[in-house]
Amino acid sequence: MNLKFKRKSFCFKLSSKVENSNTIYLEKSGWIIQLVNNEQEVGFGEVSPLLMRDFKKCQEQINKIPEYINLINLSEQIKTFHPCIQSAINSALAEINGEIIFKKKYFFDEIDQAAILFNPNNVIEELHKLQKNRNFLGKSLTLKWKVAIKDNELEERNLKAILNQMNSNIRLRIDANGSWSREIANRWADILKDNLNIDWLEQPLAIDDIDGLKELNKKIPIALDESLLKYPTLINDWDGWQIRRPSQEKNPINLLRDLENKKGLISISTSFETGIGRRWLYHLSSLQLLGPTPKVPGLAMNKTPNSYLFLNEPQKIWDRL
Ligand SMILES: [Mg+2]
Repeated sequence: MNLKFKRKSFCFKLSSKVENSNTIYLEKSGWIIQLVNNEQEVGFGEVSPLLMRDFKKCQEQINKIPEYINLINLSEQIKTFHPCIQSAINSALAEINGEIIFKKKYFFDEIDQAAILFNPNNVIEELHKLQKNRNFLGKSLTLKWKVAIKDNELEERNLKAILNQMNSNIRLRIDANGSWSREIANRWADILKDNLNIDWLEQPLAIDDIDGLKELNKKIPIALDESLLKYPTLINDWDGWQIRRPSQEKNPINLLRDLENKKGLISISTSFETGIGRRWLYHLSSLQLLGPTPKVPGLAMNKTPNSYLFLNEPQKIWDRL
């Protein structure tokens, strides 16, 4: 199959900063790619690196892909490229081949249809605000709290306050982004292990501390995130929750198949994609909700600005970019 490859770069400011224990995100840059085959069938993909060093690597590599290339050469060339480039190309190919058929509309716009990202500076106030809001009364809400940002003593105090004040309709996900020691992770696991509101502790220990994570997973549900990206074989081996990011995986078709086959303990998460990459998030999240362990996805919807970049119509995004 002969293909025409085109790319356009994008950059947007997040509506407000997103902070975790390793970094602060203020804006997002990447590329939209378009593949067209001999029959003029079109597929779109998004190269969506999260960190500057990955962005630079992608920039260098994406410039090496020629405008006219056949499928075999393209598949061979990207094998050594950054996972975000592989993800974009494989996504676009899947669209051309009809391996994924997107819907015109997905339903993740309401506050209870995705996890709500807490501002780590105001966790208690935000909890109060949500619980007082009449619009959310009786709704099941999922809150995501990024920790290991402040002093642990303060964060533990906040945790106890949250646990004391949290209504039963609230679910909680706590993400340390790999920054806790085993000692701190165990303290939190001991506080939370019998709590019925907790979904999981997300990547509490360093990416490489797989033994520590396994041990902790016996005490409380542990969701792997960054470890899965560094060690993709854990996708088949990890006996627990997995945070999956289609734009960061070499071939999101594998994730699509897993969800179609009703594999459980998978939660879908954003890397601040535009509307092009978001189609995958929506599609996979819809499938996840039909599986054996439904959980609302982490889409950080309120972090993306109101712009054509977030339409659910890829051609319109492409034309205006
Ligand atoms: Mg995470």
